[in-house]
Amino acid sequence: MPLFIYVLPRLWQPIITDPEPMPDPINAPHQTTVAIIGAGIAGAACAKALRDAGIAVALIDKGRGAGGRLATRRITLGDGRQAQVDHGAQYFTARSEGFRTALAGWIAAGAAAPWPARLGTLAAGRFTPGAEAEMRYVGTPRMSALGSHMAGSAARYGQRVARLEKTGEGWRLLGEAGELLVQATQVVLAVPAPQVVELLASVAAPAMVAAVAAVETAPCWAVMLSFDGPLPLPFDGAFVEGSPLRWIARDAAKPGRPGTPETWVGHATPEWSVEHLEATPEAALPLLEAAFRSATGSDTAALHVAVHRWRYALASRPLGASHLRDAAAGLGVCGDWCLGPRVEAGWTSGTALGEEIAGSLRSDPS
Ligand SMILES: Cc1cc2nc3c(=O)[nH]c(=O)nc-3n(C[C@H](O)[C@H](O)[C@H](O)COP(=O)(O)OP(=O)(O)OC[C@H]3O[C@@H](n4cnc5c(N)ncnc54)[C@H](O)[C@@H]3O)c2cc1C
Repeated sequence: MPLFIYVLPRLWQPIITDPEPMPDPINAPHQTTVAIIGAGIAGAACAKALRDAGIAVALIDKGRGAGGRLATRRITLGDGRQAQVDHGAQYFTARSEGFRTALAGWIAAGAAAPWPARLGTLAAGRFTPGAEAEMRYVGTPRMSALGSHMAGSAARYGQRVARLEKTGEGWRLLGEAGELLVQATQVVLAVPAPQVVELLASVAAPAMVAAVAAVETAPCWAVMLSFDGPLPLPFDGAFVEGSPLRWIARDAAKPGRPGTPETWVGHATPEWSVEHLEATPEAALPLLEAAFRSATGSDTAALHVAVHRWRYALASRPLGASHLRDAAAGLGVCGDWCLGPRVEAGWTSGTALGEEIAGSLRSDPS
């Protein structure tokens, strides 16, 4: 009887087991054909070339979203209003036929638009309009939106690849705690050159590592300012002379941006950025704000000022080839630093590598 009393209630209990963890299709470690590290324009372009050829791709980035240096800072002002400013790439031009075709697709999708900006030079407080130049384009409604559009919904964010491991079948991409992120037969690094060197130093052919290590990149400090209303300046962007800043722009003048609060961005010269490379943001901010005010003559109070340091902003000595690939090892590298510090260069590099890998997999699917 005591046994019956004990067992019966248990028979009537609903069967509860620990819930099985549901596999997350995006974040679960998985096996794929090509793993691409870096969802900037080069990585996203490489992924597109591969997906267009029907090849399975995992695109993985340490950031919170796609785009890399196609970057937009979102700002919450003291009064709760939202502002935004592109603090990386400012605009891009389109010179090759292939890039112009891709751009036409982004424009049709609402992810990019021409920016018919009033540009010129600013020297000693005097603005001189520039001669009519080729059309410039921007991501809409912000630069980072173009990265998101290109990378698509299947990219994995917030995952920093800390180490690569070569296996008999391909590559294992490991995270900071040594956890397996992705396993792939081929791996592509679409990250700035110094970060390629860090990841490849012990796993790639010395000649490939040496070629990437010879690339030189320059840093860039950016300052972002928000104002209640438009600054009374007769331009949307200016190349500045005789200042710690070499470029300032009225971000709010770009297509699709909210007009108010009015945001501006300034980029320091490479010389200033190198000299202040290890400065804290607190130290750099007043210097860059003062440079902005001195260049523009504006003393309008700012609602918000922030700075950002791009350690690997611009390739000052590029590789001189669209990409590198060790076909036998299943390893490729691409990025703007292969061809030059431009958005189009990143796209061209990623597309060329993606097409080469797709071609080789078509001819040797094993
Ligand atoms: C301040 C500034 C101004 C610029 N102005 C212009 C301009 O006006 N016009 C123009 O054409 N170009 C401009 N550029 C250059 C342009 O932004 C770049 O050429 C282009 O965006 C580079 O793309 P990418 O894909 O090669 O690299 P990135 O955009 O740098 O992408 C690399 C990605 O790799 C990720 N990553 C790095 N390491 C890891 C890791 N270990 N694990 C996972 N993910 C990783 C990063 O998070 C990043 O998203 C500017 C750049 C800067 C910084």
